[in-house]
Amino acid sequence: MAATERAGVSLRTLNSFGVEARAARLIEIRRAGELPAVVERLRDGPAPFVLGGGSNVLFTHDPPMPILRIALRSRTLLAEDERGTLVEAGAGEPWNDFVEWTLAQGLVGLENLSLIPGTVGASPIQNIGAYGVEMREHFDSLDAVSLRDGRRRRFDAADCRLGYRDSVFRHAEGRQWAIVAVRFRLAREAPLRLDYGEIRDELRARGITRAVARDVAQAVSAIRRRKLPDPTVLGNAGSFFRNPVVDAATAEALAAREPAMPRFPLPPDEAPAAGGRPASGEPAVSRVKLSAGWLIEQCGWKGFREGDVGVHDRHALVLVNHGAASGAQIAALAARIAETVRKRFGIVLEPEPTIV
Ligand SMILES: Cc1cc2nc3c(=O)[nH]c(=O)nc-3n(C[C@H](O)[C@H](O)[C@H](O)COP(=O)(O)OP(=O)(O)OC[C@H]3O[C@@H](n4cnc5c(N)ncnc54)[C@H](O)[C@@H]3O)c2cc1C
Repeated sequence: MAATERAGVSLRTLNSFGVEARAARLIEIRRAGELPAVVERLRDGPAPFVLGGGSNVLFTHDPPMPILRIALRSRTLLAEDERGTLVEAGAGEPWNDFVEWTLAQGLVGLENLSLIPGTVGASPIQNIGAYGVEMREHFDSLDAVSLRDGRRRRFDAADCRLGYRDSVFRHAEGRQWAIVAVRFRLAREAPLRLDYGEIRDELRARGITRAVARDVAQAVSAIRRRKLPDPTVLGNAGSFFRNPVVDAATAEALAAREPAMPRFPLPPDEAPAAGGRPASGEPAVSRVKLSAGWLIEQCGWKGFREGDVGVHDRHALVLVNHGAASGAQIAALAARIAETVRKRFGIVLEPEPTIV
């Protein structure tokens, strides 16, 4: 079926904040082969914006550019060898359906990433992560189509520059790409990652002593359902800010003032959050991840509400829409929160969702 195009479409049900915004043009792509012709058709106008499940985007106004909704659905077992099992999914495949499918194939690796909202195609954009695992640990490669000239290109892990909630696609040089398919390398047998959050407690409460990957997926899903607000009930985009990454000296100086401040030293090869890797020959600077939620909570924002915009009462990192908040109001609250954190701690918070 050919790509469909509609004009003046409400995006309210297409973003997990549930804010109103009207797309001048919404084009739905159902076959990757349709993209070059669509790109050609849009060539003289503003660059299109690619929308997946809308769970990490904040619309602050009616987007003037065409919105491309990538609805490519497929799941394929490609190859199996001594390095593992290679699987591929279409970019529009819902992430959690894909995780469940891999588990049904007897594959291990993605179970800790269960129930993250959104699509497979968006998973590399910020290198999704949860419960001690990041997607990059199982990433093989992806295919993307240029929104400038319609050419298709394969990206391997190095090309993607996957870092903490970061990739090349979040930076100017990577924004021209629409991801159409992503490949992961998974294992038939691998140690399970149980030492994060409450996974072990949840398994124990379920009477599970010898967990398999499916048990971990169910435990993680149960914990997430308990802890995180359901966007269909309370509009949100999960964590609104990335955890700031600072150099060790800055972290030390802050900790001297704030001894209770949580700190997580990063491995030396961890890519800096925003500026790529250190140039070769430069010594790696040791870096420390701080908890944005903790910093925000110290500034008194947890549970804050003003009209329909607020901060979740159990998660200072989750901004919420209680009903009729606009994207601009949510962005304004985010700016106020970031300013209080900057004034008190000297730390600049960066939003995690893409703000349009
Ligand atoms: C309740 C809740 C919990 C969450 N928990 C987590 C979590 O634990 N860990 C985590 O990492 N994230 C989490 N998130 C954030 C979100 O689920 C992820 O970022 C997810 O990958 C976004 O997918 P999406 O399809 O909804 O992307 P969208 O919101 O549609 O898009 C996000 C960005 O990706 C780009 N994009 C989307 N698809 C493509 C594509 N095919 N090609 C090129 N660019 C594309 C968009 O242009 C945009 O810049 C959570 C969100 C919510 C609402």
